[in-house]
Amino acid sequence: MTAPAPGQQTAQTLAAARHTERRVQLALWASGESVWEWDATSNRIAVDRAEAEAAGPGIEDVLPGATAGMPLEQFFSHADAEDAPSLRLAWALHLRGAHADIDLAFRVTDPGGCRRWLRVRGRAMGRNSQGCTDHVLGTLKDVTAQHEAEDSLRLMAHAFASTRDALAVVDAQWSVLEVNESLVRLVGEDSGVMPGADLRTWLPVGDISLDQALAEGNWCEEIKLLAPAGAVPVEMSVTAVAASDGRRHCFLVALHDLRERRQNEQRLQRMAMQDKLTELPNRLAAQLHIDQLLVHAAPEFGLLFIDLDGFKEVNDSFGHDSGDALLRAVGQRLRAALPPDALLARWGSDEYLVVLAQGSGDTEVRSAAQVVLAALAGRFDVGDQELSITPTIGAVLAPQDGLDFSLLLRKADAANYAGKQAGRNCLVFFDNSLDNDAQRRVRMTSLLRIDTDRNGFRFVAQPKVDSLGRPVGAELLMRWNTEAFGNVSPIEFIRLAEKVGLIQLMGRHAAHAAAQLAAASAALGYPLPVAVNLSPKQMLQPGLDSLLLQACRRNGIAPGMLELELTESALVHNMDVVKPMLHRLRDHGFSLALDDFGTGYSSLSYLRHLPFDKIKIDRSFVMDIERDPAAVRLLDSIVRLCQVLGMHTVAEGVETPQQLAALTAMGVNEFQGYHFSRPIPVDDWLALLRDAGGVLPLLPLPLLPLAALPAQQLKLQPMAPAAPVLS
Ligand code: C2E
Ligand code: CA
Ligand code: CA
Repeated sequence: MTAPAPGQQTAQTLAAARHTERRVQLALWASGESVWEWDATSNRIAVDRAEAEAAGPGIEDVLPGATAGMPLEQFFSHADAEDAPSLRLAWALHLRGAHADIDLAFRVTDPGGCRRWLRVRGRAMGRNSQGCTDHVLGTLKDVTAQHEAEDSLRLMAHAFASTRDALAVVDAQWSVLEVNESLVRLVGEDSGVMPGADLRTWLPVGDISLDQALAEGNWCEEIKLLAPAGAVPVEMSVTAVAASDGRRHCFLVALHDLRERRQNEQRLQRMAMQDKLTELPNRLAAQLHIDQLLVHAAPEFGLLFIDLDGFKEVNDSFGHDSGDALLRAVGQRLRAALPPDALLARWGSDEYLVVLAQGSGDTEVRSAAQVVLAALAGRFDVGDQELSITPTIGAVLAPQDGLDFSLLLRKADAANYAGKQAGRNCLVFFDNSLDNDAQRRVRMTSLLRIDTDRNGFRFVAQPKVDSLGRPVGAELLMRWNTEAFGNVSPIEFIRLAEKVGLIQLMGRHAAHAAAQLAAASAALGYPLPVAVNLSPKQMLQPGLDSLLLQACRRNGIAPGMLELELTESALVHNMDVVKPMLHRLRDHGFSLALDDFGTGYSSLSYLRHLPFDKIKIDRSFVMDIERDPAAVRLLDSIVRLCQVLGMHTVAEGVETPQQLAALTAMGVNEFQGYHFSRPIPVDDWLALLRDAGGVLPLLPLPLLPLAALPAQQLKLQPMAPAAPVLS
């Protein structure tokens, strides 16, 4: 082989060098790197223009002026304040030969304000005669995307590791590729859940491969995780994740522990179903329970609707805290006394519901009612008070009384109402006649409201006489006549008014009518006091005394012309409120009479402390006179005791001369009853006085045609206010 000629050799070498250079350029272009150069003489650094252009929008967009070359210090100053020191240090160490090369990433802010990462690498190419580096060559690359990817990868890895949700990466055959801490904790440290394990060991998902399962998209379901320590309800969601080759998939299985959520749900459900005050099941819970019993093929159970008697008075006189405490205590006593399989719920203010177990009937209802009555019989210590309360119980039986929750409840309520009418503290079973009662009550209530608003009542007067039959006063009694129901007994409409809250306004009408009548009879020359009945509810009305005073003022009479009749039941439960009110009324000059004496608590001892002027002996005592010698003896001692206490006695319901004789013999002061006169229209009473011409007429009044009375009853007409006051 002949050696090439020198010229030819140079050309070959040159061509080879070009070839190499092109390959280097190609390599650089492919890697996205730009070449830079620094020399000590100029102390400038310049990025190769050709490479920069070849790489497209690149280094010049990040470091403007880099291709034209810039002083080294200017190059450094492009680096972020945080990174500039390490860049300078790396440069210095390399120049001094301490580090073989430079390899460092640093951040710059491009002219658009974006932060970018640049990786600079370089190596000294030559040293001068003093051994100092005078030429460095290197590459520069925008590695922002790579950094960001790394960052996000780090973030993802961190999230995977630290999330509270349990995560596993599996292949299509459920073989575990990766698990996080939470998953290991959830399945169990010793469960063996780790890469390589089959996740289906703990997840009962069947034999399906994930490729099939996820053909339709994501998979999400609630499932039981079979952890060695016990099954855990989890929400499983599976998502396909493309692997880096883009073809294969792996799957991310996320398990969310539902135990806490379930507990919260249960807690919320409990709260929604529980009465806050008594912690008993509430209305909703009772309804659901009854609905459940009703879906049985042959539902058979008893239901007791309990309403406390006189609870409102407790609330009004002892305050709501005492009322609340009483309701709680009642709930506790009932719960303890009733069979465990009976549901006890609080239905409303002072109402409770007992739903007996499936299979219960008439007998079980009766014995449950006995249990309820007995449980509440003892006194309740509430704060520093001793309270007593009784229940009225209405009962229904499914299926005979209904197969529908609201029907059963309505009937139980109707039975309860009948129990209240029958005297409370008792059990009443529903029967169909009560249904009519309930409808009657609803219609009557709306009529009563209207008539209370417009004072659509009439008043009658029943005279009271002394032992010679001379009138000493009259009792005003209210009458209510409706087109739909005819004459309604005051026993019924007064009770209804008390229940629906109309009694106070009605009482006001009665007080004005009484004052008006007293004024009218005084104007005729007969200053006879007029008695008016006060409902127990009125006694709890704070403004009662001013209302009564106003009635007297309007009609120009002294309070002594009004006699207020109160029953014992008004006193018993509310002594704390009633006693001061009685004293106030007495101080104003009203006279006070205890009505229906003997029907209630019959203890004269406490009467000593109350400012009563009169005791009205109940009609039931008077009725017994002729047939029961023991009753006579009892009555005799009552009358004597009243005399000792300085109280007048009035006998009610005197119907026969024999009764009158016996009562007179005992020393009773006043008499009232059909023997003398039925209640008569007030105008008739006034006419009677007027016709007497200044001499008190003697009663009985044989002239009054009793059968014709209702038609004669007249409404009191408003009269001139200032009738003369006679005393
Ligand atoms: P009361 O206060 O005990 O009234 C006496 C009741 O006995 C009256 O019935 C009267 O008609 C009746 N009576 C009187 N003498 C005899 C008799 O010799 N034999 C018989 N069998 N009965 C006699 P009435 O008018 O039906 O009133 C019933 C109850 O209604 C009253 O009982 C009273 O508690 C209440 N009431 C009546 N009017 C009012 C009122 O304006 N306000 C209030 N709060 N209650 C009233
Ligand atoms: Ca009365
Ligand atoms: Ca009475």
